[in-house]
Order: sequence, then C-alpha cells, then structure tokens
Amino acid sequence: MGLFSKESCIVCGGKVNALTKAKTAEGSVCSSCLSLCSPNFVSNIKNKNVSEIKMHIEYIKENQELYKNFQATDTVGKLFFVDKSKRLFHVPAPAVSIYNKTPIVYSFDNIVDYELVVDGETYTKGGASIGRALVGGAVFGGVGAVIGGATGKKSQKEMIKKMYIKITLNHTYDTYTEISLISADTKKGSFLYNTMTDCANKILALLDSITAESSAPSFSGSAADEILKYKQLLDCGAITEEEFNKKKSELLNL
Ligand SMILES: [Zn+2]
Repeated sequence: MGLFSKESCIVCGGKVNALTKAKTAEGSVCSSCLSLCSPNFVSNIKNKNVSEIKMHIEYIKENQELYKNFQATDTVGKLFFVDKSKRLFHVPAPAVSIYNKTPIVYSFDNIVDYELVVDGETYTKGGASIGRALVGGAVFGGVGAVIGGATGKKSQKEMIKKMYIKITLNHTYDTYTEISLISADTKKGSFLYNTMTDCANKILALLDSITAESSAPSFSGSAADEILKYKQLLDCGAITEEEFNKKKSELLNL
C-alpha cells in the first residue's frame, strides 16, 4: 500500500497523500492546496465545499498581494504592524502552523474590539464603539501597573503563564486574531515581563488610535481644516462674515 491512493484532490485534481490530506464531505484536499489556506480555515475545512475552498484560496492570494505591498508606518517590535496610509494591519502568523505562513492582512474596519488577556483574565478592553476601558477598576500607569493589582504589594507567587492581545474581527474567515506576548512561566518584574507589558501598552495605544480614527465623527481633520481655510479668507476680507458662517454650517452639517 503506497501513500498515494487513486483518490485525487477535489480542488486541484492532483494526487492526494493519505497522511497529509484533509477530508471533506465532497472528498479529500491535498496538502499543497491546504498549504494555500489559512490555519483557521483548515481547522474547519471538513465543513466546506469545493467552491468555498477555491474562493478562500483566491482570497489568500489577494491577501498575499496586500502583504507584499504593505508599508508599515507604525510597528511594535515584531508583534504588530500597521500601515496607516492604507488602513491595514497584521500580526505574525502562528509559528507552529504547517499551513500558510504569510500573515493575513486585515483592514482597520475589520476591528470590532480588542482586549488584553493575562492568565485567562481580561485586564483592558477597547473598541470603536466604546473606546478603551480597564476592566475591573480603573488604574493609571499602563498595563504593568494593573496586572496583579494596583497596590504593588508583592505576593508569594508572582508568575504569569500567558499574556496576549485578542483582536475580535468582523471578517469573512477569521473571527479574531491574537498577538502572543508571553506563553511560558514568566516572573513579574523580570526583563521579559517588563518588555512585554511595554509592548502591550504600545499595541493597545496603537489600537486606540486606529479605532478612534475609524469611528471619528464627520467633524474631523478635514472639516476643521476647511473651516480654518475659510476663516483665513474671512480675516483677509476675501469673503464676508455671512459667507463664512454659511460655509461653516455646511462643513459641520448643521
Ligand atoms: Zn490539491
């Protein structure tokens, strides 16, 4: 019995290796087609039909073009990449994935909300509709001051196992994406801990600015700039007070 059965891939028609194939209701998908899909998609591929899989592979190809043309305007370490001019962001692809290793690029508009989770507890949460709030008591001084209480008193065991930022998405294929900050026992106050809480603060601040931008009311940069221009025209006598007020009302949607 060889590894290659007579079965052919329902997506590309190629040979299927029995050890690396994935099964769906319509038949098997070969490993090379699987490698073109996102890990999230592969984990649920048994419920997909051929045309859904083909559409997903097309989507990934287009997304890889976005990734190629991505020009980061803001980055936090190798954890979070933002292209403010194109309103796009990405996080690193999961390191352990045997599937597509190119990060998926998302739009700012995909962000529903985001939260910092430490050992299963949410410490801070934000989003376009609510802004950012610290969960379980407002404390200033950033994430590092919040974790484990504001008093700063040292308890016996001050280890953290897992810290990540979860970004909930409104997106066809992914309901969320995660930025892993700490994934093994780490002592509070250690260099790694301090570095990662610092990164968490920077990422959350960037997410705040991204979502504040997307949800800003119409009286934003451009309207204010326009009014200023007309104010200058008024000041130098090029337009009358009446004309200025009319223009201002228009720009403010009054
Ligand atoms: Zn195939």
